[in-house]
Amino acid sequence: MENGLCYHLHTRLAQLGNHSDPATGAISCAITPSATFRHPAVGQSTGFDYGRSGNPTRQVLEEGLADLENGARGLAFSSGMAALTTLLLHFQSGDELLLSQDLYGGTYRVVDGIFTQFGLKANYVDTTDTAAVSAAVTTQTRALLVESPGNPLLGVADLAALAELCQHRKLLFIVDNTFMTPLLQRPLELGADVVVHSATKFMGGHNDLSAGALVARTAELGERLYFLQNSTGAVLSPQDSWLLIRSLKTLPLRLERQCATAAELARWLEQQPQVMQVYYPGLPQHPGHQLIRRQATGFGAMVSFRVDSPVRARELLERIRLISFAESLGGVESLLTLPAVQTHADIPREERLRLGIDDCLLRLSVGIEEAEDLRHDLAQGLAG
Ligand SMILES: *Cc1c(COP(=O)(O)O)cnc(C)c1O
Repeated sequence: MENGLCYHLHTRLAQLGNHSDPATGAISCAITPSATFRHPAVGQSTGFDYGRSGNPTRQVLEEGLADLENGARGLAFSSGMAALTTLLLHFQSGDELLLSQDLYGGTYRVVDGIFTQFGLKANYVDTTDTAAVSAAVTTQTRALLVESPGNPLLGVADLAALAELCQHRKLLFIVDNTFMTPLLQRPLELGADVVVHSATKFMGGHNDLSAGALVARTAELGERLYFLQNSTGAVLSPQDSWLLIRSLKTLPLRLERQCATAAELARWLEQQPQVMQVYYPGLPQHPGHQLIRRQATGFGAMVSFRVDSPVRARELLERIRLISFAESLGGVESLLTLPAVQTHADIPREERLRLGIDDCLLRLSVGIEEAEDLRHDLAQGLAG
């Protein structure tokens, strides 16, 4: 958008893709399915040559992603795992990676199940403890990958302090910002080098799209990641790029509602006799509460809680009628997950139990339904 940067972020999002087709004046950007593009003459290009290398619809999205995270370069992928996999290809055999121990199960699986076969070494640390991260850095460590808040226990890492540590130790600092979105937390502004997203979650927001994103702080790193994206090809299709552009326009409205309802439900859950513990960084007694207030502008829409028995957890999942018992998060429809058997099933049992991911722990992704309806559904499910 011309002169677009002087507008507020919400305005730029609402306008994403508008003015991209001067010939027709279309408000909604065009979907260009072409897999290849005609050259005007030998040695000349319209800027588009081949669909994997670049596509006009994907470009509108990628520029929007870079703008959202305040980075130099945005790249769109066919899923969050495709984005992460592409990023991991940046490393070499013998390189060591430090990762949050409270991590998306799929990230653990691709690192431990696949990349270690190619000689990458992985170490998991409590990234809510900056000193523990510092102690875990070795001469082989090349990067730190953090999720904050963590998944599913929602611990908060000090992103600015970790950025400083990474700069000092020359580590690439990667933040998976899926749970927060750039509207609540912008890690690149706190010193991260790359942000990862599963856009399947809040960004897509309707449980109808698989997509992922990388955003690099510098043009140089962006170019390297583009090289990896173009070389390996897990790009987002033009159709899905358009759907994600459309979804992003309403992200601020969805998120505001989701966060408000999540805060309300977290406070309500705390008062239920069947609920032993509630994990929500918006609660004043949450250990990361002050920190998240400093580094983010909201607490997110994910609430984890522990019930009094595995039977209770199972019954709740079977009794809910409005909320769906399903994996994933961030959509307009509320979902309830049992991380131990779903999202985190690939983490070895002992390790899971050590982290506190047991059969009593549930993770709620709060949608845009009326809070009272969600509360009633949880109440009748907990009554058992
Ligand atoms: C879902 C998720 C991913 C993986 O994304 P997909 O779109 O499912 O491939 C990565 N990180 C986090 C935090 C996630 O929640």
